[in-house]
Amino acid sequence: MSDWKTRTKLVHGGVRRSQYNEVSEAIFLTQGFVYDSAEQAEARFIETGPDEFIYARYGNPTVRMFEERMALLEGAEDAFATASGMAAVNGALTSMLKAGDHVVSAKALFGSCLYILEEVLGRYGVDVTFVDGTDLVAWRAAVREDTKAVFFESMSNPTLEVIDVAAVAEIAHAVGAKVVVDNVFSTPVFSNAIEQGADAVIYSATKHVDGQGRTLGGVILGTQEFIRKTVEPYMKHTGGSMSPFNAWVLLKGLETIDLRVRAQCTSALAIAEALEGNSALERVIYPGLKSHAQNELVQTQLGGKGGTVLSLDLKGGQAAAFNFLNALEVAVISNNLGDAKSIATHPATTTHQRLPEDLKVELGITPGLVRFSVGLEDPDDLIADITQAIAASQA
Ligand SMILES: *Cc1c(COP(=O)(O)O)cnc(C)c1O
Repeated sequence: MSDWKTRTKLVHGGVRRSQYNEVSEAIFLTQGFVYDSAEQAEARFIETGPDEFIYARYGNPTVRMFEERMALLEGAEDAFATASGMAAVNGALTSMLKAGDHVVSAKALFGSCLYILEEVLGRYGVDVTFVDGTDLVAWRAAVREDTKAVFFESMSNPTLEVIDVAAVAEIAHAVGAKVVVDNVFSTPVFSNAIEQGADAVIYSATKHVDGQGRTLGGVILGTQEFIRKTVEPYMKHTGGSMSPFNAWVLLKGLETIDLRVRAQCTSALAIAEALEGNSALERVIYPGLKSHAQNELVQTQLGGKGGTVLSLDLKGGQAAAFNFLNALEVAVISNNLGDAKSIATHPATTTHQRLPEDLKVELGITPGLVRFSVGLEDPDDLIADITQAIAASQA
């Protein structure tokens, strides 16, 4: 299976068939499993084989299919599926850290990630230093002998800065720290983060993996040792496991993710190119544009693919941004991303509302900034919709 090309892995990877030999993956909507004997139950609690299950919080055949398919896609040894992307971020970090440890994190973080790094870890005695993720000198200055982990969003939300996974990994590994990457915006289709040195890669499967706005889900990918010895005990005993129904939805999402994300990425580039230079915009941010500050890194790290999200900074601040959102006719106002439907978001008042004002300014989350997640609609319709909404924003 690991020799297959990506699209083949995404359709057939991890399949476990029941005695009925069903074509489509079955939903094993069961929390428990019957043992043939008391002795078998005892043996399974001592050591659980790869096709043996105990309880859905510990593992389930449908969830296992999803984990294996994700691991094949990412090129990771193993994976643990979680109830949401945030359960994955929390699980990867909390399972490996203890009081007294030090963590270095990029400061450009999604609000809930910031809550975990700043409030949760801080409350349990983990010391966290925040750095500008694109500044390798700052990473080098911040790591210490007692640094146990570094954390960053490889492409930041919503200003789409791209962080050099290989370079940060080299700095972290020099002091023995593990590299934990939230890779949502890079997408599992374009990611090579494990190969580039990440020890743990996290996705919110709610985004591109589902891609159709139905379920929450998340996944932690890494070595078998890390997933089974560190992550699994923490997750299975603290309860953030994925439901079998959601795993089934996400397995179906994986079948089409490569086609969807490539199409969305092609549209995103076309839209960004069409908008660049529009006089009502302060800036168009899209990592696939030559004008993007880290476009060279996008070439080496992501094979030149800038992802499925772009951000627009409208002249006229929040009033213009709200006018823009309210004028959209195809794209919807919401806060998911990676969806088949194009979604526009005003980060400063929604997803990033909890960030302090000075940090918003520092991160470029300006009042005029709109995040636009490009869907599967015809790109010409999207360009027309965005162009008319930009004109309306200046009214
Ligand atoms: C959405 C998102 C998360 C959280 O995922 P949920 O599935 O909503 O819990 C974490 N990190 C990033 C970068 C995200 O975009």
